[in-house]
Amino acid sequence: MKTKAIGSPGGLTHRCVVLGQNFAIRELLHVLGFTFTSIDVVEAVGDIDHLPEAVRPDVLLVTDSIAGGLSRLKLETAKAKLMPRAIICLTNGVDAQTEVTLRAVGLSFLGTAETFFSHADSVLKCSVRRRTGSPTPPCDAQNAPTDARSHLAQSVQGRLHKSTRSFQRMGFRLIPQTVAVLAVVLMRLIELAVGLVVSALVLLPVYLVLLVRYLVAGIPVFFPRTIVGHGNPVTIRAFNRCGPLQNLPLFAELITGRLALVGTAIADWDARPVTPMQGYIRRIKPGIFSLWQVRRASRIAHEGREIVEWEYVFKKGLVYDLLLLLRGIPGLVYGAGGQSPSPVLRLLDLDIANLTMADAIQRIKQAACGDRPCSVFFVNPDCLNKMATDRDYFHILQQADYVLPDGIGLTLAGKLLQTPLKENINGTDMMPFLCKMAASRGYSLFMLGGRSGVAAQAARRLSERYQVSIAGTAHGYFDRFKESQQVIDQINRSGADILLVGLGAPEQEKWIMRHRHRLAPRVLMGVGGLFDFYSGNIKRAPVWMREIGLEWVYRILQEPGRMWRRYVLGNPLFLYRVARWRFFPIRNQHE
Ligand code: UDP
Repeated sequence: MKTKAIGSPGGLTHRCVVLGQNFAIRELLHVLGFTFTSIDVVEAVGDIDHLPEAVRPDVLLVTDSIAGGLSRLKLETAKAKLMPRAIICLTNGVDAQTEVTLRAVGLSFLGTAETFFSHADSVLKCSVRRRTGSPTPPCDAQNAPTDARSHLAQSVQGRLHKSTRSFQRMGFRLIPQTVAVLAVVLMRLIELAVGLVVSALVLLPVYLVLLVRYLVAGIPVFFPRTIVGHGNPVTIRAFNRCGPLQNLPLFAELITGRLALVGTAIADWDARPVTPMQGYIRRIKPGIFSLWQVRRASRIAHEGREIVEWEYVFKKGLVYDLLLLLRGIPGLVYGAGGQSPSPVLRLLDLDIANLTMADAIQRIKQAACGDRPCSVFFVNPDCLNKMATDRDYFHILQQADYVLPDGIGLTLAGKLLQTPLKENINGTDMMPFLCKMAASRGYSLFMLGGRSGVAAQAARRLSERYQVSIAGTAHGYFDRFKESQQVIDQINRSGADILLVGLGAPEQEKWIMRHRHRLAPRVLMGVGGLFDFYSGNIKRAPVWMREIGLEWVYRILQEPGRMWRRYVLGNPLFLYRVARWRFFPIRNQHE
């Protein structure tokens, strides 16, 4: 990630490497854009394994969001590798012992992002003085000159003033702080309205029914649940033995203000010490709707809870929250509803592996150093429609080591068959995880498929982004009978450990299975149009469309001629097939 330099009064630019997760860093840069500090981010990486070579920055800015958390070892490693003139460490609170340990690395600043932003000019000036050899003044926040603060205040005020000019032109005298307060008040009013309406119309009648049940059968109406609320344990009540309605009393908490309508995910209280990142997340009020819940419902929360929550913390705001609320509604239809322990979803006579992304990567990692070829295929509704009329394809999928579920159609099928899927695992989402794993283990990839130059372009981008080794690439428009041996030789000579084949389904699965014993890579994956996405030829649907299960609509809009039949006719046909198989399994034939 690169940014342009932000001008400063002195005209000096600080070359800076930022160490932290992408979305946290984006926010950081956004805030820096409102200061008078000149800073040129030459590189931004998520963990120390990916620190740039041959960059000697003025400043190394490390944030809490660094993969695996802050530690002295990490700081020492980064310092030794980059030799920056100043290390700035942004943390939302560390205990005294950790603070001493971290400071021992020789930090120019250790504190919260807010404090840093208040004194950024003075902190960064230290690194400039060091560079020019002048004596280094103390750089801790307490010693920052007050004129820097007033300068910052003026600058921020100037920017705020600029951003409200359009309001003022319309005759309004609104300033952003007022807008922020109004947003909070508006959200609170919405919460009160929702809380009152749901309590009066739904909660109360259900409560009365449960009260009668209590009087007749002695089953308590509520059970208590202690959750994390605003950093402290809070005990809320849920309806006892009430199935999907058990969380209805949460709406009453909107009136008490202990829960928000949209916030961080509700989590049971755990007294164990938390990381600074978790501590920061805990400070945000939990909500009935959360980004984590939305991503979980659509089975795309592959990064794990903490990362998703952290993303929410930085995006939070009235508009974002209201849009998140809307995005949460489809999830009520296909939401999790309890995790199935079943490791397999049996669908249309095919066993589909019910894994998390982390599990799938773990298995591929093991297979890559195994002694036999391991086939990994992804199936979406279109593949399963093809499978229903293509006996060979069906047998090939049956023989595969792993068949993974791709798309919202599979999520719905899992729900219908009472085997909820743990995660939706498609090749495009898997690619970053696969590349990171391959880079860390020293495995190399061969990419076969797509039009001429597409796989090579995707390979360049992936190796730049994830430092993964790409052993070779080849296009997918070759004569399967005459030229396959040549392609196989090229793959085997490359020494690749993992082969990605993007010829479209079922062609790629058939090609892999036909030649698997002659292919040297240990992992053989069918990845469809993945290279088109990673080469930049075809844009992927925005994440909000994936969250509400409408990625297929985006694909129709991009390639209507090719895709309408696949989705407009294919999706209902697939659901019909699933329902028929569910209720009349004997009638399912693969011919
Ligand atoms: N393709 C190929 N050789 C062929 C036919 C197709 O390499 O003979 C490629 C095509 O360029 C595209 C991919 O296979 O990159 C198929 O993409 P599609 O979107 O159909 O696959 P999906 O991801 O939907 O399974």
